[in-house]
Amino acid sequence: MNTKKIDNDYVLSTYGRADIEFIRGDNATLYDTDGKDYIDFTSGIGVVSVGHANKRLSKALCEQADRLLHVSNLYYIAPQAQAAKKIVQASGYDMKCFFGNSGAEANEAAIKIARKYGERDGEIKRYKIITLQHSFHGRTITTVKATGQASMHNYFGPFPDGFVYANDIDEVANLVDGHTIAVMIELVQGEGGVEPQVQKKVQDLAKFLKTKDVLLIVDEVQTGVYRTGSFLASNLYEIEPDIITLAKGVGGGVPVGVVMTRLKEIFSPGDHGSTFGGNYLSCVAVCEVLDILQEYEKSGELAQSMMYFNKILEDFFNKHRSIFIKKVGIGMMCGLRVKNADILSKIINSARESGVMVLKAGRNTLRFLPVLTISKKEIDEGFIRLNHAVSKL
Ligand SMILES: *Cc1c(COP(=O)(O)O)cnc(C)c1O
Repeated sequence: MNTKKIDNDYVLSTYGRADIEFIRGDNATLYDTDGKDYIDFTSGIGVVSVGHANKRLSKALCEQADRLLHVSNLYYIAPQAQAAKKIVQASGYDMKCFFGNSGAEANEAAIKIARKYGERDGEIKRYKIITLQHSFHGRTITTVKATGQASMHNYFGPFPDGFVYANDIDEVANLVDGHTIAVMIELVQGEGGVEPQVQKKVQDLAKFLKTKDVLLIVDEVQTGVYRTGSFLASNLYEIEPDIITLAKGVGGGVPVGVVMTRLKEIFSPGDHGSTFGGNYLSCVAVCEVLDILQEYEKSGELAQSMMYFNKILEDFFNKHRSIFIKKVGIGMMCGLRVKNADILSKIINSARESGVMVLKAGRNTLRFLPVLTISKKEIDEGFIRLNHAVSKL
């Protein structure tokens, strides 16, 4: 494969890549250079929310590219204003948005918002941010430090100070002290193993933090934009965070990161910014993706599709209880815990050979993040192939 050689020669080695090159997609189906088709139960990693080669999205992007791609944030950008309005209205929260280009950047901005709030709030500077073990918040120097996985802190120091890790949500309240400004959590840990938090515990924590004037940051980079069935997992959990971050699914494949906050006046011009963030291309993508998914949700198709996927996944789980011990997750963010972690990469590789793509999460979870618009036919075909792959082991 020619691409493989060029990649090896010229691209830094940060990924373990499978030996496949895709050239075309259609909703939840991908085609490689040999013309072989794959059912995509990964949507990138939770990115391609409205499907591969979505006709409405591609039309909106082409039309925008024909007119104007980028000016700079020194001018008003209509799609940016519209995207912010759509996101805020869909969320139901009284917030304002800032646009960047990735999840890490969105979390970086969330941390800056919290730190600025701590700076101007009273006598002592509050700066500590509590995150959870097994969390994932990004790869920049700050967000990798915010990530509660010691294995990711091996190099790259010194890191910014002030991150404290709680073993689990029960431990958070005990770690809050006079220097704590925020708690940052995922409502369903994605990379950590598709582990949903218990709603009551999150609600109690949110209440407790309000009494301490400690901000609640919810990292919805993976859970956001209908992945769990609601626009935000925060809606599903019925909480009112102070800061929420989005990325992955919000641009449908175009790089977009969003931080939204109820601290609407926290920033003044010059405090934060981005060259690319919020440009015409990415914000037209956000607007179109949200329109598509809102219609899809209103019509009941999203709920149907989620129910069907989970039913077939449950059947698959029941058929293979010798391999899997538990079905986990919410909506289109689900997983199966394997009994024996060693078998996980074998399942993923065998699945790929059989023409279906699945992901890993944590040490022992087979993860599914299908395209939200996946068809019944694609779900059926994907699980036929997955059954085949697992039976071969
Ligand atoms: C993927 C992810 C990130 C990082 O997003 P990037 O776009 O890769 O920077 C942060 N938080 C969560 C919960 C994620 O799933």
